[in-house]
Amino acid sequence: MDTEIVQAADLKKVDPVFGQLSFNDHEQIVFCHDKDTGLKAIIGIHNTVLGPALGGTRMWNYDNEWEALNDVLRLSRGMTFKSAITGLNLGGGKAVIIGDAKTQKTPELMRKFGEFVNSLGGKYITAEDVGMETSDMDIVHEVTSHVTGISESKGGSGNPSPITAFGVFMGMKAAVNYKFGSQTMEGKKVLVQGVGHVGASLVEHLYKEGAQILISDINQEKLLELSKKYQATIVPGDEIFNQELDVYAPCALGATINDSTVNTIKTKVIAGAANNQLADEKYHGKILMERGIAYAPDFLINAGGIINVYAELEGYGKDEILQKTKNIYNTTLDIFNYAEENQITTHQAALNKAQERIDNQKLASKK
Ligand code: NAD
Repeated sequence: MDTEIVQAADLKKVDPVFGQLSFNDHEQIVFCHDKDTGLKAIIGIHNTVLGPALGGTRMWNYDNEWEALNDVLRLSRGMTFKSAITGLNLGGGKAVIIGDAKTQKTPELMRKFGEFVNSLGGKYITAEDVGMETSDMDIVHEVTSHVTGISESKGGSGNPSPITAFGVFMGMKAAVNYKFGSQTMEGKKVLVQGVGHVGASLVEHLYKEGAQILISDINQEKLLELSKKYQATIVPGDEIFNQELDVYAPCALGATINDSTVNTIKTKVIAGAANNQLADEKYHGKILMERGIAYAPDFLINAGGIINVYAELEGYGKDEILQKTKNIYNTTLDIFNYAEENQITTHQAALNKAQERIDNQKLASKK
């Protein structure tokens, strides 16, 4: 009896879904379960005012379901703002599959997941994310048309990473222009943390423009390969925040700007591909602003990937993808100026502009 009372009281304290800290007026949250394949997934549809909610599916071995729910709520909200600020007619959504992508992902599980996506009738459109490959999206495509990021041979747009890297490069150049009044990256000291799919491609752009390149990764082989190819200096992970830099480009993990780094980092600009670079958007964003560090909002400058998959829905080609991605330069510069005029952080400025577009569309559709 006592246990029942305690449980009831605890349940009242934290409502399981709408009471979550990451809940942000999400429109729909779908819990998907299939006993035969072992599928446990959550689809988060944050907002569909501008269009169908598009966002990748992440497969991750979450410690518990709260973590998975928190992730899908957070990530789907991020997609709403990413698409809105990029000018795409898309809403924000995301899905998570609970499990180890290396050992628990099977074609049957992916097909079942595709059936759940299909049951939403196009309100949510899926794509690749961490733990997913193009081949997984091809399997999902067998049971639903509401999927992007399928292989080029099947009419898809292929690997988005080079486009993402190009967009990050454009955003970085805008930030450098804003901060230094410089049109080129020539001679700028840039540290790229994480030289995976996006980071390596970013390094190539920087090399071609004559930047002074520093690289850091946990993959030693990759570091040696790139340092040779692009005359880049290797920096151990624990020395990143001691370097005097012009640009810090986080392209590995999120939350690298946190309580222990935000006051010590020695850079003029932060512009990278990683999602959720600020551990606390408001708090750390404000400290960067006070320190005069120009932060290019991650969800704005890493939008090349979504521009790339959006092409599959709209049927436009590579030229238009590149054109739209190049425009990240103009949007980033606008955001820096708008933030300065309004004395707000660049992160908040980008959120405001994205929200403005959603609100205008909402108003227009009511007329
Ligand atoms: P990736 O897995 O190919 O590369 C990540 C790299 O980071 C790897 O080389 C890995 O060894 C390295 N790394 C991991 N932990 C590290 C650590 N502690 N310190 C230093 N390096 C570490 O991933 P990616 O596709 O290049 O994406 C990079 C980042 O950009 C991710 O945060 C991803 O969410 C984000 N992003 C990617 C895309 C895209 O199109 N691929 C689009 C938007 C955002």
